[in-house]
Amino acid sequence: MPLHIHTPLIESVPLSRAAGRSIWLKLECLQPPGSFKIRGIGAACEHYASQGAKRLVSSSGGNAGLAVAYAGRHLAIPVAVVVPETTSERAKELLRLEGAEVIVHGASWQEANALAQSLLGDTDAFLHPFDNPLLWTGHASMIDEVAASGNKPDAVLLSVGGGGLLAGVMEGLARNGWGDVSVLAAETQGAASLHAAMQAGQPTAIDKVTSIATSLGARQVCAKAFELSQGGLVHSVLVSDQQAVTACTRFLDDHRLLVEPACGAALAVAYDMPQALAPFNKVLVIVCGGATASAENLRHWTAQLA
Ligand SMILES: *Cc1c(COP(=O)(O)O)cnc(C)c1O
Repeated sequence: MPLHIHTPLIESVPLSRAAGRSIWLKLECLQPPGSFKIRGIGAACEHYASQGAKRLVSSSGGNAGLAVAYAGRHLAIPVAVVVPETTSERAKELLRLEGAEVIVHGASWQEANALAQSLLGDTDAFLHPFDNPLLWTGHASMIDEVAASGNKPDAVLLSVGGGGLLAGVMEGLARNGWGDVSVLAAETQGAASLHAAMQAGQPTAIDKVTSIATSLGARQVCAKAFELSQGGLVHSVLVSDQQAVTACTRFLDDHRLLVEPACGAALAVAYDMPQALAPFNKVLVIVCGGATASAENLRHWTAQLA
């Protein structure tokens, strides 16, 4: 039994109406730890467990860390997550609820990650949040499920942080004979690392992440994501933080599901940017989810960004 669940694939009437075309949703927000990340991370954790790993280590206070904690609990392997002092109480509480040991260290993710690396012994496995082929192959299972339904889209719309989801979706499209499907890669303007690299035509880091969509906050996408972006099928689309948050609120009303602004970035393209979707009749949106935002957070951001 894999650690992820088979998620629903539904046609969205409200989003189809807003976008003026058929919009289908792959509801990864319904994965038990709250996001698609459990697909790849669950598969990777199972792999490391079969290799004899005695502990799983992460340096993510977000959905990647939550997925590791969830996987460890189900595999009965201890989990340590090192997070910086800036990590919210809610995120730490969610990690502890999954039974993970939470170690708070350093002012930034770099320092927390450095400590996590220094802790690694011979029987520990480190789980990177996006740059690991085991993750991409695991994420690809969401496209296997869509392909099994026979429901081929003209384009897949997804959010991009470090590019693990992008790499996984494209692996899934390729392995199901759907390698001709376009990919719309949504980022918020303050976390546009894929966009920067595509503009530059070479791997590029952005100076800093300024978006509230913290789950998209990788300064540079993984090499695999950059390489895939050069194949002609990936189109970069940028939205503002305000558009991402507004999309989350609309989605909550339309589908009664609460997602993070990281996911709102992709939803905003469907709600607000019909021109980006113009060439496509049928668009599959990966509703990547995210467990770290509350309804109160959404209200706060809405007021702050107005
Ligand atoms: C991790 C994450 C992303 C971005 O995924 P990458 O593999 O880093 O590109 C987007 N949305 C949510 C909710 C996430 O947890």
